[in-house]
Amino acid sequence: MHPLAKKLLLIRQMEIEEKCFRIMGKNVGIFPIASIFINDEILRKNYEFGKAIGKEIIDLLEKFYPQKNEKMLEFSFNLVSLFGFGKAKIFNREKKVLIEVEDSPLAQEAVKKGYRGKKACSLIAGIFAGIYSSIFEKVYEVQEVSCKAEGNPKCIFEVFEKE
Ligand SMILES: [Zn+2]
Repeated sequence: MHPLAKKLLLIRQMEIEEKCFRIMGKNVGIFPIASIFINDEILRKNYEFGKAIGKEIIDLLEKFYPQKNEKMLEFSFNLVSLFGFGKAKIFNREKKVLIEVEDSPLAQEAVKKGYRGKKACSLIAGIFAGIYSSIFEKVYEVQEVSCKAEGNPKCIFEVFEKE
């Protein structure tokens, strides 16, 4: 089981009821990832949808983390992984902030759905953009620069501040 799920279940911050699924007091939903590969337009809209998810993740964490900092960022990535969007890791290269997701579930489903050769993880990029913008209180955009659905080894996202 996901280590965070274990922890949250133990402290009763994850409730799976017949009527709802709640994490840290907030209603959350589970849906099949394959459902987001309907067409290119939906994929573009998913970036904006992702931003809203990222913002809500930080909203949820604000109750538990009084300070918006790197620790909160780390925890938010842990939640992203619990929500089923893959395990993310931040790294820096030539002054750029990059995030890698090793086995993006979106890339996996994209390939199954015949979206091979295109970047498929706009929803995840949006989530990171929402998270960064909410924590660091500036407008950030995130672009996927390499996707496993294109045949690359990992999905890599670049974080940049909007001018
Ligand atoms: Zn990808």
